[in-house]
Amino acid sequence: MSFTRVESRSNVLEVLQSVEALRQWREQTLGKGGDGKRRAQLGLVPTMGYLHAGHLSLVERAKEECDFVAVSIFVNPLQFGPNEDFAQYPRDFEGDLSLLRGAGVDCVFSPSTEEVYGDLSKPTTQVVPPRWLVDRLCGTFRPGHFEGVATIVNKLFNMVEPDIAYFGEKDYQQLLVVKQMVKDLNMNLNIQGVPIVRESDGLAMSSRNVYLSQNGRKKAVTISEVLSSVKTAIEEKRSVIAAIEDGKERLKKTGFEVQYLEACDIETLTPVTEPVKPVVLLCAAKIDNVRLIDNMIVQ
Ligand code: AMP
Repeated sequence: MSFTRVESRSNVLEVLQSVEALRQWREQTLGKGGDGKRRAQLGLVPTMGYLHAGHLSLVERAKEECDFVAVSIFVNPLQFGPNEDFAQYPRDFEGDLSLLRGAGVDCVFSPSTEEVYGDLSKPTTQVVPPRWLVDRLCGTFRPGHFEGVATIVNKLFNMVEPDIAYFGEKDYQQLLVVKQMVKDLNMNLNIQGVPIVRESDGLAMSSRNVYLSQNGRKKAVTISEVLSSVKTAIEEKRSVIAAIEDGKERLKKTGFEVQYLEACDIETLTPVTEPVKPVVLLCAAKIDNVRLIDNMIVQ
């Protein structure tokens, strides 16, 4: 005779738009602890929606480690430059909810811009990450981006008060910025990085992949192929500089506009030419006017 394990947690997905409703949900759901009782642990997965398997891997990890899981969906205007794709950023709220229901998430927090920032025409207080971490890579091509990211992440932490927050290694520089902010500002939570989820051909999953043409989609895999070949060059102790130059050439020949392809220290992101300890290879390149980023760690 076989037995089916029955999940003890109810599968109700609360969809909340206001900070007040969120705080009420939090208090009712997690309890206050005290009397020797452990307060339930809350995991947060911050996203901008248009969810895919990469986001769901963060959710899965959060479900393994926390009693309750909240996912925020908010396309943050503050992290987009004036000529970037804020207005065109893909959105599918109903589709996202059905994925999150299926994944057994407890709460979706999807506030309006006004709920988060009030009147955005009036400048808001911002979190400024240290220059040594942001004056490079994506920060060079997206001025103000990481200030926008750090500010919204800080606000989400204050609103949701999670015990653990989950971020993808896909946005490697972002993950380091968030970890540094938590350390520097003595925030009382843990940050977990989760490995990149890829399509079967190796392309890193991204909400923006939907904007690739059929031809662009085929070419997009070149980024991960180039990262893999630079990785192999490093593992075989060949010249890093030459491998990177070859990689850039290959991307350009494929039709990419390359913003950067670099080997960097995994903690400080300073460029490395002769690796003696683990490095991260990072790339940003545009095809079909879609900006794609990817990275690979070489141990
Ligand atoms: P986004 O909605 O693009 O802001 O992403 C929300 C979170 O999901 C971020 O922490 C991303 O790093 C993470 N993420 C996005 N794509 C992937 C992926 N392919 N694999 C793992 N994590 C991802």
